Amino acid sequence: MTKLMWSTPEALRALLNEVVSWKSMTLSDGEREFPFKVQSKLQDIPYFQAHPEQIELTDADLGRKFLTALYKHPQARETIVLLSHFDTVNTEEYGDLEILACEPEMLTKAFFERKNELPDEARIDLESGNYLFGRGTMDMKMGLVLHMGLIEKASKEQWPINLILLTVPDEETNSLGMRAAVSKLIELRTQHDLSYKLFLNSEPVFAQQPGDDKYYLYSGSIGKIMPSAFFYGMETHVGEPLSGISANYIAAFLTQHMEYNPIFQETVLGEKMPLPVSLQQKDLKMEYSAQTPYRATALYNVFLMKRNAAEIMDLFEQVAIKAADECNASYQMICSREGVRPVGNISVMRYDDLLKHAVSKFGEEYVQTVKMTVSENYEMDDREKSFRIIDTLMIHCQELAPAMVLLYAPPYYPAVNSSDNPLVEECVKFVKEFGASNFNRNIKRIHYFNGISDLSYVNYDDNSGGWQVFEANTPVWGDTYTIPFNEMRELQAPVLNVGPFGKDAHRRTERLQMQSAFVEVPQILENMIKSVLCEKI
Ligand SMILES: [Zn+2]
Repeated sequence: MTKLMWSTPEALRALLNEVVSWKSMTLSDGEREFPFKVQSKLQDIPYFQAHPEQIELTDADLGRKFLTALYKHPQARETIVLLSHFDTVNTEEYGDLEILACEPEMLTKAFFERKNELPDEARIDLESGNYLFGRGTMDMKMGLVLHMGLIEKASKEQWPINLILLTVPDEETNSLGMRAAVSKLIELRTQHDLSYKLFLNSEPVFAQQPGDDKYYLYSGSIGKIMPSAFFYGMETHVGEPLSGISANYIAAFLTQHMEYNPIFQETVLGEKMPLPVSLQQKDLKMEYSAQTPYRATALYNVFLMKRNAAEIMDLFEQVAIKAADECNASYQMICSREGVRPVGNISVMRYDDLLKHAVSKFGEEYVQTVKMTVSENYEMDDREKSFRIIDTLMIHCQELAPAMVLLYAPPYYPAVNSSDNPLVEECVKFVKEFGASNFNRNIKRIHYFNGISDLSYVNYDDNSGGWQVFEANTPVWGDTYTIPFNEMRELQAPVLNVGPFGKDAHRRTERLQMQSAFVEVPQILENMIKSVLCEKI
């Protein structure tokens, strides 16, 4: 009998340290190399030595790959997908300790030397000896380690269920890895005649408010979308300000109406989402000059629970019309006070209306050329590209100015929730009881994971066509950004997130609670799968 490699707390800790030391910041070389390292680790499992073809690396983009590893029980059809992301955010905030950011044991020791520099809560946790600090310990390499431990054990003990370990890049920026993996999951299902039973993510527990140290599991994941605007005014010289209209002036009205606007806030199953905020607002003037800025842009962050892209666009348009009305009234007053003629009335239009206008004016081919030229520019990200497309079209359609053009900028994470699913309810009940009786933990369920996750790209169930509004109003749609809505609809199985407890994701005090990560959650997951999810064969 060969022994299991990753079944004790010490072994899990060692594996975590190793996996964290494989630096994998989003868009770095390390991110590209990472899945090969996971592959070679998994190849040490006897099951995969016998079935090497069941570990696969598949292209995402830019040389990045995601990994799938399938443990297949000969009689089982039902399958759990164990989902994780292996990219992390950057490490600049560690300052002179940056070199240790991905060496948890050394970093934790180094923090001890200068513990008075840490915020109180982090210092107390450090002194307790219960936490391991480091980039990616919490978010979310421990989740991947847990899945590696599970697939090793399941394959050794021949659990009567199939497991697919899926680990993807790019979650921290655009979730390109997961969006690419959707079709792979469909392919694997056909190839091996699988039936998906559960999508199980192990993102860490996030505090619901500062100082919160309760343990949660999640039966859904909050959505996020970015309604955005391009403001096109009319240029003039500062000496004659009212011969034009400043885009910053127009933008200020919409931003004022969007920030903290409660009409976007949903409360579902007793959970209230954060209010919308602007993520960026800027004019497009590249350098200082005495010309007034006539083009500006803004990105707004809106969370979603029940609503889809079509509903958010309706609300956004409503808010924009109100903001434009106020802007027009205020501008008219200024013009009459100063005795000048207004340059025009600010109108509100959606990107798809601008596109139709441009197509009827210049033809389809011209519009396609504009889009292609912009999308070939590798220096710009999808947000900049979106605005650049509108900018180019508006320069040639100035009869529409002054205007606010409403659009969607990537990324979009649809909301997902399985709280009414009987299997998920059974899992939730099991985890709560298991945690209470074995670890004396009072575990609470949250309906929407508040940290944004890749679970958004499975189990899509919008039957009202809400995604069409997203497609039609996303300038880079189909060129540099797509969401496989139709394939996501095929991946109908409930979602659940059970992960380790940690604190301060994306901060230099990111840390993982070791008792939770190495002792409790491995047992919770193993027993939940065995008791609730395994087939009776
Ligand atoms: Zn994460």
